[in-house]
Amino acid sequence: MAAPEAFTQTTDVGHWIAGAPDRGRGPRRQPVYDPASGEVARHVRLAEEADVAAAVAAAAAAQPAWAEMPPIRRARILNAFLALMNEQRDALAAMITAEHGKVFADAQGEVTRGIEIVEFACGIPQLLKGGYTEQVSTGIDNWTLRQPLGVVAGITPFNFPCMVPCWMFPVALACGNAFVLKPSERDPSPSLRMAELLQRAGLPDGVFNVVQGDRLAVDTLLAHPQVHAVSFVGSTPIAQHIYETGARHGKRVQALGGAKNHMVVMPDADVEQAVDALVGSAYGSAGERCMAISVAVLVGGIGDRIVPRLAERARALKITGGMEPGAEMGPIVTREARDRIEGYVALGVEEGARLVVDGRGLTVPGRERGFFTGATLFDHVTPAMRIYQEEIFGPVLVCVRVPDLTAALRLVNEHAYGNGVACFTRDGGVAREFARRVQAGMVGINVPIPVPMAWHGFGGWKKSLFGDMHAYGEEGVRFYTRQKSVMQRWPDGIAAGADFAMPTAR
Ligand code: NAD
Repeated sequence: MAAPEAFTQTTDVGHWIAGAPDRGRGPRRQPVYDPASGEVARHVRLAEEADVAAAVAAAAAAQPAWAEMPPIRRARILNAFLALMNEQRDALAAMITAEHGKVFADAQGEVTRGIEIVEFACGIPQLLKGGYTEQVSTGIDNWTLRQPLGVVAGITPFNFPCMVPCWMFPVALACGNAFVLKPSERDPSPSLRMAELLQRAGLPDGVFNVVQGDRLAVDTLLAHPQVHAVSFVGSTPIAQHIYETGARHGKRVQALGGAKNHMVVMPDADVEQAVDALVGSAYGSAGERCMAISVAVLVGGIGDRIVPRLAERARALKITGGMEPGAEMGPIVTREARDRIEGYVALGVEEGARLVVDGRGLTVPGRERGFFTGATLFDHVTPAMRIYQEEIFGPVLVCVRVPDLTAALRLVNEHAYGNGVACFTRDGGVAREFARRVQAGMVGINVPIPVPMAWHGFGGWKKSLFGDMHAYGEEGVRFYTRQKSVMQRWPDGIAAGADFAMPTAR
């Protein structure tokens, strides 16, 4: 198979407004790095208020006609987009590797998981089917339907620049909304490519817009009276800010936050299977996944069998540029993020945890300026330590030892975050008990990263989600629509005279 082509564009990454590339109305821009070399690869424009206003105006102008279009025709446009996404999968993956740093095979997987949401959204005629009751009273029928909200916005994190926007816009568009996407400024390119593909698929201009930017763009969207709903995915402090500010402005908000995902390994678990699962889910994508496992909860005596095997595997990982054949882990997205992660490793040592594998200070030959850090493993971590409590968002796995399932469940349930969680066991009763009692939004039984499929919806509990509804799936359809109930009677069924009592079925 031919080697995938690297993404090397050097021109500025701008906005996409009213169906066309847009350089913006102000001078602000910031560098986008190639994390594997540490060099500035290109710049991203940062939106001013006027850019956001232009994008929202374009969306508001295009939305009514888009909502009028029968859902089956909207679905056909999404079907054409689906075909283009499949065709462009590797080009999108190369962009992700170039700007995020994750290895190419992982980036391909990300695009595939995004494509699955488009596949789901193509079923929109069925998803928008309402409920109908004939004869709720004599001569009266009642039905419910769901209608789009208008203009909606999505604000997305750096760690999935293709998949997370796809959690939002395919469903929002399918429902008849117009969309304004504010991607992460650290890896802005895939969003523009998807905008181009939507246009090629036949999406009317203005229905999908992209504004690149920082806090100014976000706060302008949150205050804009024509934006009716905001979907956010990112860190918990910002998620809370988005939720509170959006609500204050009367908007519907779903804000998905950070995580500290635990994997409980019971004494009867298959050791090799558990070690494979821990290595892949803690160090895959350099731990920069909201569903990464960052805490191994080792129950009973299994810790003594797991930790040495984990250490061996962590030391042997192939860490290099994401386009290199056989790469298992790439660099960290920015120098600041790498330094923050290594700061947590120093903190863990200070806090008294046992540092089994120290990934700090890794240099990759030929890529000495790249933002690399190695895989790190701590053992004998306690709940009082900050390395246990806080999201590190890097390749750092902490192991906590507990005596039994009750203690494991208490540990997980007392944690502030509740995104994903996993339990490895061969005991069906333990698995059932765990899934029922655990306080988290997404549970894996012998599955380390239980990211739900497109039709099931994604979301955590506790500090991992602010709002009522999960992303995509039927929850997504509900989020991007509002219910209307229609009660109807035709003149020949109308009884004579005014009725002053509360109407009841007759
Ligand atoms: P982030 O919170 O720094 O940024 C997310 C978005 O918010 C970006 O578009 C950014 O430009 C914007 N933003 C940043 N600071 C802002 C501010 N002060 N005001 C307004 N907007 C602001 O997150 P990140 O570093 O890009 O992504 C990593 C985080 O996202 C991790 O915490 C991870 O757990 C989380 N995440 C969660 C999920 C989930 O489904 N729960 C999925 C992916 C990532």
